[in-house]
Amino acid sequence: MTVTTDLNQQPESVMDDEEMRSCCLGNLVVIINTRGAIPTAKGTYPARFGIYGEIRSREFAFHFNPTGEIRYMRGLTRAWPHPWEWLKRSWGNDWVYYSVGLDRGQGRVKDWVGEDYLPCLSYESNAIREVTPYTEPGIARAFSAWSQVYGTLCTTSLEVLAPEMRAFVEQVIKANDDSALIRRAEDLHRIIGGRVSVLPPDTRHVDYEVIPLNIADGCLYKCRFCSVKSRAPFASRSDEEIAAQIEALKGYYGSSLQNFNALFLGDHDALAAGGERVAHAAQTACEAFGFGASKGAPPSVFLFGSCASFSKAGDETFKALEALPCTVYINLGLESADNDTLKMLGKPITAAMVTEALHKMVSVNARYPSVNVTANFLLGTTFSKAHHASIMALLGSVSREEGAKGCVYLSPLVETQRREEVLPMFHEIKEASGLPAYVYLIQRL
Ligand code: SF4
Repeated sequence: MTVTTDLNQQPESVMDDEEMRSCCLGNLVVIINTRGAIPTAKGTYPARFGIYGEIRSREFAFHFNPTGEIRYMRGLTRAWPHPWEWLKRSWGNDWVYYSVGLDRGQGRVKDWVGEDYLPCLSYESNAIREVTPYTEPGIARAFSAWSQVYGTLCTTSLEVLAPEMRAFVEQVIKANDDSALIRRAEDLHRIIGGRVSVLPPDTRHVDYEVIPLNIADGCLYKCRFCSVKSRAPFASRSDEEIAAQIEALKGYYGSSLQNFNALFLGDHDALAAGGERVAHAAQTACEAFGFGASKGAPPSVFLFGSCASFSKAGDETFKALEALPCTVYINLGLESADNDTLKMLGKPITAAMVTEALHKMVSVNARYPSVNVTANFLLGTTFSKAHHASIMALLGSVSREEGAKGCVYLSPLVETQRREEVLPMFHEIKEASGLPAYVYLIQRL
């Protein structure tokens, strides 16, 4: 059994179409072919998706992708904060702690992030609350426990194991060397042409488990305030480049593809590449990656659009997206409905354009059942009262009936001084809005 980082070769798996099996290895329990939830399932706690292997010590459970990389860790004793809480490692090699218990006194987590749990990132982002679970002893201990378990695996004779169990443990040893994990993330970024600096907020619907495929680079605006923009001018990628990327991604994910049913079409304004290119790329990628209703629900496709690309998109674009065997989520960065604020942000659009885009969003959502358009606005104590009032007025102009499909996200600017005032501001806007409103937590991949 070998695991390779050669991008043209699919990593093998010992967990394809097999029954669940377990055995002991010293003080560890090794389990292969565990079936978690279907990739599109949603639960009241972070679900373990798809097929995975598991190694348990007395204190911790560690889960592995079919290609062997560690994916989840959870404590099994009372030292762990909550049985529903997990550490998850992304394909970009970042750890995320899923908290379900940090909402005391702040309203339910579900009211502000739309899910029952709050992802706490291990890197700088726009968190609305300062949460540092990584310094809690129970959670910090998971990382040292994993190092110990990894060391034990590397130094224990595997002769006693049945061939499939041994192959799984060997795969885990090979895939989880620190440098191998870093190389794996670098390989992904190399295939798509760089790290995904921000995922659309709608990817929360699939627990951020998306395969990224870049069909364009850059964006139309280069807003002054934006910390994730690329310097490059906007350019679509050619059909040939997109096809080559799909092939390379297929080889990269290998047997772990079976755990995916969602695609992110990057990067910052994929809609500006045109409806035809978006639909063609989505269709080709979903087929190549084996996505489909057999995984529990239609696949999901996520992309960003801008005020300009969305205004330009006509019925032929939305008809092409509606015809796909997927649910398509388009997320628009509108930021403010106040001219002075837009000017201050260096965003070259007007309040009238933002108003028009929001009303078009409501209309597209009503007319195309499989297309789901959402929009982002900025939130923070450093903005003027006019900014806050303009968002309240615009979102309040949509009736609850019209706003039954789609939603808006309020993206907090990084606050260092008056962070505790931001969540009450969000709740005030949410109350006034005819569309469901959630906080946008920027996650990378
Ligand atoms: S906010 Fe959006 S449109 Fe503006 S620079 Fe950033 S990525 Fe580009």
